[in-house]
Amino acid sequence: MELEEIQNLGLTKQREVVLQVISDAAEHLTANEIFANAKQLLPGISFATVYNSLRFLKDAGHIAEVQFGNGASRFDRMTHRHDHAICTKCGKLVDIEMEHPQELVERAAAYSNFKPESLEFTLRGVCPDCVKD
Ligand SMILES: [Zn+2]
Ligand SMILES: [Zn+2]
Repeated sequence: MELEEIQNLGLTKQREVVLQVISDAAEHLTANEIFANAKQLLPGISFATVYNSLRFLKDAGHIAEVQFGNGASRFDRMTHRHDHAICTKCGKLVDIEMEHPQELVERAAAYSNFKPESLEFTLRGVCPDCVKD
């Protein structure tokens, strides 16, 4: 989201800063990382405020929360359905925008007897930076 777009949402300054940090980040940040970046923009902001802002922004549909295994939640500026690739060496998390073959959805539904709504895909592997080492 562009800064101007964020400013037009009518959010409190704190929520605006939190959304700005997430929109500017190329990575999927944890709450602690968002807090550290938000403090640079708004030195008085507390962790509790950042945390509450994250809840609010998520409920309002401005950001998404992603969690893998036992790791800390990370926050995503992309709220539409997408997949992720995770590096098993450095933990880097990358977005993948890819259509799922309908057949895969149907097969997964058949195995589980579920009525399918969505399918998420996580690719685990070694990222280009770690492959070089
Ligand atoms: Zn890596
Ligand atoms: Zn993502």
